[in-house]
Amino acid sequence: MTAILMSLAAGLLLAVLLLLWHWRRSHAAQAAVLRAREEHLTVALWGSGERFWDFDLARRGLHVLDCAEDERPTIGDGLSVTSRRMALPAVHPQDRRHVLRRLRAHLQGREPLFTSEHRVDLHGDAHWIWVRVRGRTVERDARGRPRRLAGTARDTTASRHADAERRIASEVLRSMSEAVAVLDHEMYFVAVNPAFTLITGYSDVEALGQPLSMLDSGRHDGLPGALREELLRRPQWQGNVWMTRRDGAEILCQVRHNGIGDLAGEFNFHVVVLSDITEQKRAEQELRYLANYDALTSLPNRSLLSDRLARAIVRARREGGYVAVLFLDLDRFKHVNDSLGHAVGDRVLRAAAERVQRSVGAQHTVARLGGDEFTVVLEALASPEEAEESARRVLEAFAEPLVVGEHGEITISPSIGISLFPGHANTPTDLIKHADTAMYQAKSAGRRTWQVYSAHMDESARRRATLSSLLRRVLERDELALVYQPRYSLHERRVVGVEALLRWRNPEFGLVPPDQFIPLAEDTGLILEIGEWVLKESCTVLRRWHDAGMDGLRMSVNVSAIQLLRGDLVATVARILAETGVDADLLELELTESAIMDNVTRSAEVLHACRALGVGLAVDDFGTGYSSLAYLKRLPLTTLKIDHEFVGDLAHDPDDEAITSTVITMGHSLSLLVVAEGVETAAQLHFLREHGCDEIQGHYIAAAMEQDACLAFLRQPALLPD
Ligand code: C2E
Ligand code: MG
Ligand code: MG
Repeated sequence: MTAILMSLAAGLLLAVLLLLWHWRRSHAAQAAVLRAREEHLTVALWGSGERFWDFDLARRGLHVLDCAEDERPTIGDGLSVTSRRMALPAVHPQDRRHVLRRLRAHLQGREPLFTSEHRVDLHGDAHWIWVRVRGRTVERDARGRPRRLAGTARDTTASRHADAERRIASEVLRSMSEAVAVLDHEMYFVAVNPAFTLITGYSDVEALGQPLSMLDSGRHDGLPGALREELLRRPQWQGNVWMTRRDGAEILCQVRHNGIGDLAGEFNFHVVVLSDITEQKRAEQELRYLANYDALTSLPNRSLLSDRLARAIVRARREGGYVAVLFLDLDRFKHVNDSLGHAVGDRVLRAAAERVQRSVGAQHTVARLGGDEFTVVLEALASPEEAEESARRVLEAFAEPLVVGEHGEITISPSIGISLFPGHANTPTDLIKHADTAMYQAKSAGRRTWQVYSAHMDESARRRATLSSLLRRVLERDELALVYQPRYSLHERRVVGVEALLRWRNPEFGLVPPDQFIPLAEDTGLILEIGEWVLKESCTVLRRWHDAGMDGLRMSVNVSAIQLLRGDLVATVARILAETGVDADLLELELTESAIMDNVTRSAEVLHACRALGVGLAVDDFGTGYSSLAYLKRLPLTTLKIDHEFVGDLAHDPDDEAITSTVITMGHSLSLLVVAEGVETAAQLHFLREHGCDEIQGHYIAAAMEQDACLAFLRQPALLPD
């Protein structure tokens, strides 16, 4: 029995032990499973960056499970997940409505999930962070109402900032007017913005995956090999490059390149910013062109000329040789402009520009300084004579008429002044000034010729300037005087009139001849006052002579083009005639051909009005100007004065004889009185009488005399030739 009991007890003990062992084993296994689960949870929490939350709606209790983000939990090393209760964090006032709306939608069953992104203050210190919360109902009460919510939450503050920055950056890129392209390390397009499409014509679909060389322009250097290598090496580059648009048009782009590298210094990406500066460049070039070239003739203007001349001087200093400046002024261009109009004048200037350039050769600079003035810079001359040779060639080139469209041909010639480096000046300004002075001298020497500058020309230029300033005071200082030259009738064999000739008696310069000061007075406009003085004085003297018994004596007065065109000549003459009581038909106005031709329309008007007063009208110096009878025929002229140039050679030069006799016949056929000027010999007088000339004037009869001397001369007819 004892044995049975013993074995029973042993069996029981064994069973208990076995049971205990089994229980312990299964308990250990369960604990291990639990631990493993928690470890997985820890890793999942850490890995996802999420926190678990559990919210009891009735008790408003919040339970949070989270994992420190900065340290990596090691499995089996104990748990670093913390589980804590916490108060419901405050939601940002601006986000509250949104959160409640989302929550309500879920609790009322309209949304399977509660999701929301909003700001919360976790620690009650007004430090707001963004959280993205997701969760759902996990427990309901007996009536099916939600009792517990659980889910995850995540801090999205950083990524929201990054997102905002990305959005702003991409908006900026989209709205930029410059093309932006991102290229990979082999220079293939990875991204482009809308402006890229606008500027290059390639859409993003067409560009992505294509190489940068897609934009290479064939004609210009483009962005080929060398530059691409450069871009690959340098983190930053900037420059202007010609590129080809998709439609083949070439555009000049300003390119800015930025390489985006990794730590090893390799550029993984290249950001290329392109702006189309084609128009800007074109406008710049146009401006540069306008600043340097004359719009009418396309020749360089004064500024570019000075530039080139300065360079030529520097070269000549270095390499030797001469630089010459030829200053050209077209003779009587003003007449072309006034008589044929500015459009024709412009054509003449263009044709003249072409002709000058052709005659000096394309290698030399021809510039237009304005008006009818041109300048040529001749470089690398071996001697000064070469400059004169060029001037001669230019003059020869102008012997041929210029062709100006339907207006046919116009013959015009330049007067040329020459200055040289080295010798005359060292600066462009002085060289041009001296050439200009020499040009004036060429004009005085009779036009259609050239003159090389010399220092004494400055003297005459200075004298001109001084005279011009002294001239202003000439009337108030009473320095003007008239002398009178008799006019002798070959038919009546007596003096029938006198010509009043102006003199300037200056204390400093002595007797200044009219040829020297009248052009100056015309330039300053002073001629209007001077001319009026001449008319008044001559008519006063004539009246006195009439009163002294010289009835019927005529007075001729010279009138300048300026008086004819600008002054109130008719009214002045009428007033002076009335004031002096001189008969209108005893006064004659002398006008040179060029004065009349300067503006034919205006001249005709004034001449008709003068003639209507009864005043006689003479063409002075006939033969030296245009001698256009066609024009003269239409004007109410009464007298033709043959210039002394033709008279001087009568009895020597058969040509001059032929011209003079033709002019006399022609004058008579137009019912004009013909007068010969500058008669100095009996032979000339006889020739003129034989050919029917009406009157003569000249030293053979008498030189110009002072008032009293002239009156005495008029009273002694015996001294006159028969
Ligand atoms: P013009 O009207 O043709 O005057 C004739 C010029 O020839 C005068 O020169 C006269 O002195 C000169 N002369 C006269 N006889 C002879 C001769 O036998 N041989 C030579 N070699 N010359 C002779 P002047 O007085 O020096 O006048 C020059 C020019 O000045 C005039 O040419 C005229 O165009 C202009 N002039 C003179 N007085 C006036 C004036 O009051 N007003 C204007 N606007 N011009 C004037
Ligand atoms: Mg005269
Ligand atoms: Mg004359």
